[in-house]
Amino acid sequence: MKPIKFCDTTLRDGEQAAGVVFTPEEKREIVRQLSLAGVEQAEIGIPAMGAEEREVIRSIVEMGLPIRVSTWNRALKEDIDASRETGAEWVHLTIPTSDLQMKAKLHMGRQEIVGMIRRAVAYAQRFDLGISVGFEDASRAYTPFLMELVLMLHSDGIRRFRYADTVSMLQPVTMRERMRSLLGECPEDVELEVHCHNDFGMATANTLAAMEAGALWASTTVTGIGERAGNAAMEEVAMAWHHLYGGRTALDTIRFKELAETVSRAAGRPLPPAKPIVGTMVFTHESGIHVDGMLKNRETYQSFDPVEVGAEHRYVVGKHSGWKTVAHILREQGYRPERELSMELMREIRHEADKGKRLLEPEELVRMLIEIRSGLDGGRL
Ligand SMILES: [Zn+2]
Repeated sequence: MKPIKFCDTTLRDGEQAAGVVFTPEEKREIVRQLSLAGVEQAEIGIPAMGAEEREVIRSIVEMGLPIRVSTWNRALKEDIDASRETGAEWVHLTIPTSDLQMKAKLHMGRQEIVGMIRRAVAYAQRFDLGISVGFEDASRAYTPFLMELVLMLHSDGIRRFRYADTVSMLQPVTMRERMRSLLGECPEDVELEVHCHNDFGMATANTLAAMEAGALWASTTVTGIGERAGNAAMEEVAMAWHHLYGGRTALDTIRFKELAETVSRAAGRPLPPAKPIVGTMVFTHESGIHVDGMLKNRETYQSFDPVEVGAEHRYVVGKHSGWKTVAHILREQGYRPERELSMELMREIRHEADKGKRLLEPEELVRMLIEIRSGLDGGRL
């Protein structure tokens, strides 16, 4: 499989998530980490929102990081002018493409939309800006109309297009078919990006299906933060692309955990413990049967080595633990638990775990072991 590229929109779509606000410092830190992780492009804001937003975008541009920064704009002269003030070299120009959105949002028909985007493109080209054109609500648009737009804009010099599944209308099979038919008719030098939302939990799967069908750019956010149920998560798309599709990315996956923690802290949205790839508990094992298997051979219950994402396996003790896990953890603590104490120790562990609905710390196991041993000694004396 070919390598794919990432266009991160954590600072734009991510910040559009209800109640999420990043400070200027947090934005700069997030882009710095994205750049370190090898992300190719970051969409860092909407200049038309106002002077403050433009100021932050400018400060990020001035960091001079080895990542392409771009802004999100409507296909309007005033938006392009606002973006020019920031110094960003790339503009993303968006138009609604479904009849529903064209009519409801702009009271326009298809031909008026064509005129609008061509005028905006021509205007942006006067300033030598890199341009990508976004088809909002593309998944509900009439596909021949999208094709007409691509060909027309390609003749105007545009090579980069974003196909947005704005309200999550696709599943992987339909996404793959759509991409194949679009790309089948596109000139070879067209670079297609997909932007998927997660209302049905399909954003990652849909993005991967599009990549498999030939799209080059994945529009993602760190942890999938974004409007409503969010977007495709960068870390999920990248890891699955590598491990399930055998494809490559330029990303330094070891940085995923730190990035996820930075974004979730800045967003004020704690990471769910079982969040794929970056959750605190996704490499933590309690069940006796699983731990027993993993102690023999890690491949038994792992799909990839957590070291790849800067994490490691952790064995914890709780209600479902078995003696082998307990003995393993005690040995790590420097104790040699006696086999004949296992029944009593396990009874005590299950009692505590049940009572508190919780996991037990290694120190607690040590204390229990010592108490049981001393109880036996007391009996003998
Ligand atoms: Zn979006």
